[in-house]
Amino acid sequence: MPPEVKARDGGAASTLHNVLLLEQRRGYDDRAVVGGLAVLLARLGQDSQLSHDLLHEMSRYRERSAEERADLVNRALRAMVVPAAGPSLNDELAPPPTAGGSITRPRARSTGATPPGVRRMSPDTPVGALTGVGPARAKRLAVLGITTVSDLRLHFPHRYVAYPPPQPASGLGFQHLASFVGEVSNVDVANLPGRRIRITATLQDATGRVGAVWIRAASAPPGIRRGVRLAVSGPLVRYGRQVYFENPEYEPAEAPPLNTRRIVPVYPLTSGLSQPFMRGIIRRALESLSPIDEWLPGWLCEQNVLLPRDSAIHELHWPASEDQMEQARRRFAFDELLPIQLMVLQRRQAYRAAASLAIEAPWGLLADMRQRLPFALTGGQQRALSAILEDVAQTRPMLRLLQGEVGSGKTVVAAIVLLAAVLNGGQAAVVAPTEILAEQHFRTLSDLYGGVQPAIERALGRPLRLATLTGALSRVDRLRTLDAIATGEVDLVVGTHAVIQPDVEFARLLLAVVDEQHRFGVSQRVAVRQKGQSPHLLMMTATPIPRTLALTLYGDLDVSVIDELPAGRRPVETILLRPPARDEAYERVRSAAATGRQAFVICPLVEGSQAVEARAATSEYERLQRAELAGLRLALLHGRMRPAEKDAVMQAFAQGEYDVLVSTSVVEVGIDVPRATVMLIEGAERFGLAQLHQFRGRVARSTEAAICFLIAGSDAPESLDRLEAVVRSGNGLELAEEDLRLRGPGEYYGLRQSGFPDFRVARLNDLALIQEVREAATQLLEQDPALESPEHQALADAVRGLAASAAEAN
Ligand code: ADP
Ligand code: MG
Repeated sequence: MPPEVKARDGGAASTLHNVLLLEQRRGYDDRAVVGGLAVLLARLGQDSQLSHDLLHEMSRYRERSAEERADLVNRALRAMVVPAAGPSLNDELAPPPTAGGSITRPRARSTGATPPGVRRMSPDTPVGALTGVGPARAKRLAVLGITTVSDLRLHFPHRYVAYPPPQPASGLGFQHLASFVGEVSNVDVANLPGRRIRITATLQDATGRVGAVWIRAASAPPGIRRGVRLAVSGPLVRYGRQVYFENPEYEPAEAPPLNTRRIVPVYPLTSGLSQPFMRGIIRRALESLSPIDEWLPGWLCEQNVLLPRDSAIHELHWPASEDQMEQARRRFAFDELLPIQLMVLQRRQAYRAAASLAIEAPWGLLADMRQRLPFALTGGQQRALSAILEDVAQTRPMLRLLQGEVGSGKTVVAAIVLLAAVLNGGQAAVVAPTEILAEQHFRTLSDLYGGVQPAIERALGRPLRLATLTGALSRVDRLRTLDAIATGEVDLVVGTHAVIQPDVEFARLLLAVVDEQHRFGVSQRVAVRQKGQSPHLLMMTATPIPRTLALTLYGDLDVSVIDELPAGRRPVETILLRPPARDEAYERVRSAAATGRQAFVICPLVEGSQAVEARAATSEYERLQRAELAGLRLALLHGRMRPAEKDAVMQAFAQGEYDVLVSTSVVEVGIDVPRATVMLIEGAERFGLAQLHQFRGRVARSTEAAICFLIAGSDAPESLDRLEAVVRSGNGLELAEEDLRLRGPGEYYGLRQSGFPDFRVARLNDLALIQEVREAATQLLEQDPALESPEHQALADAVRGLAASAAEAN
């Protein structure tokens, strides 16, 4: 055994490797390193590349017997030679062999240029036109969404394996991954059970030999014959004094490196396709297509240090180095994010270009109103209010999102601005997502304004006139209300989306407030905008929106955040339970009901099926009624009920006619039930963290102690870890950021509904890149607001395509 061979990873692992070998030679006396092995391992931690368990066992190394020490050292040595299963991209990427080329002038590619004599294909040539792709394989490729040659070009690897350059046999020792080129001197094939075979081969070069073992399906054509010169790359395994490759990738040594001896791509596959096949045809596709045109102006590429678009695509498939690959990802992600930024910024431009009427704050009256409130505004409310009042005082329409946790007091902020609009001689509207919320707002606003009625009357010269407009109005009442809105008799309309129907005409709409705006897509925003003369628009949401999403999904809006709750609010005590411990939660529900409090039971989310979800909620409701919660008054709420039914149930629950509401996730939106103090969430792991936080906000509406039980339907450590985060943190935004990091944006943020594309490369949590792209988009639009210049045509097309799919999705 050649202990002087250094592990390739250098650094920590190689140091540790040498120490372990020395320890072996010294007979396990724990003197191979000053302070002992345990001390070294504690320092290295994860850098040692040893598993958590093994590290733990070795932490008591000194107290072990000689035999135990020998066993531990040997296990550690073995663990260091065999690569861990399923390593992440970064684990697999060895440091770049040499410094990559400069960024702006990428090094010459080995795969980019068309070899002389190869015919250029048009991008929409069917894949079947490539050699090696018959009808059967074309069908398989179609499963992956690949039908044309250019689809292949954009089928990017989901990870890479960094194989090192080949080494002579004498140099092979303790590498995790190695490459070798030599002649097959011996082959042995053995049958295994399950129609598989084991191929054992010996390869040799001038310096020595190395073994290789493959286990494969019996039908696989091995192509491994005596006398053939092969290149192999793969994990190197030690067995006693021997070293051999275990299931390495291989190819003829003369062929250009495709599967061995370099950073190789690993593609998403489907059954019946193999990596070597995929690599081969994608290489061929790249060679057959003309380079993709650069679609960004040169100054922009230079300023943002971007690889040329075509090189980026090549490097994404066949990176010359880890650094090149990162540059390529960045470039491609930039291209994916740019049209979105252009779209939202153009949208913003268009909206802000209109003239609107300035709303001046009636300071005296507002001060009066604030004094009469039973509470003082929080700092967060005051900051949001000033930003909004400053905004509406302009003759350019406000376009602002007010974000604040459930219970942060957005309504009173809105109430003040709404009143300001009316006192400026205009009309204002509030749009709520449900009738019950509309009615709640109507009552809240009536109460708030009631307190300052004399002052309002003095300012207006008459009483303030409020109206509701929902689907619940009779035809006659509706017509009468519409008429009053059109003639300006009504100052303030509170309603559902009925307010933004085309037949509703306002005499002088100055301000629209849209509550819980995540239910409102862009087309509804446009509808609101078209009422009156470009009214100021304030959207409110309790959904915590990570900054990166705020900049993309809501990139056309200004954002205000109320980042504190009114004083005296107690955080909701949150307890994580496994199902057998549910009784504790039911006990709590019963005792709450006994003292006139109420509880929510939230049933698990069933992805994509309201019907199944509704059935599950119904049977849970029936079960609880019979068993654990027998004797209590239970109500049921699910998405399959008609809107009127849902509202009736919510209303009755809010009025205390029921003790427990068993519900699917429809309860999410902002209804106020001050007596509800207990919540039980089944299958909690299926919800987003921020969503759980919002649920629990439903029971945090008073200063009473509230409790939320999260019932984990799975004991997978990742699920429990996520749920622990909700137990620990009371900060919705923090949880949303965590969610975005762990699970990606997903459905929850309404990203798909808004017609945003699925990204191939870009990640929606890369704040730095998103800001950079936004800046670039701003500059582009400053030069060419409508993207009319010929050099921006490709970008303009992309933006149009995006806008069309966004409109369709709404
Ligand atoms: P949300 O932001 O979820 O819409 P609301 O506007 O419904 O919150 O306010 C929740 C409750 O908090 C209401 O009962 C409201 O009267 C009360 N509230 C609002 N602002 C304050 C404050 N600054 N101090 C104390 N209570 C407040
Ligand atoms: Mg609200």
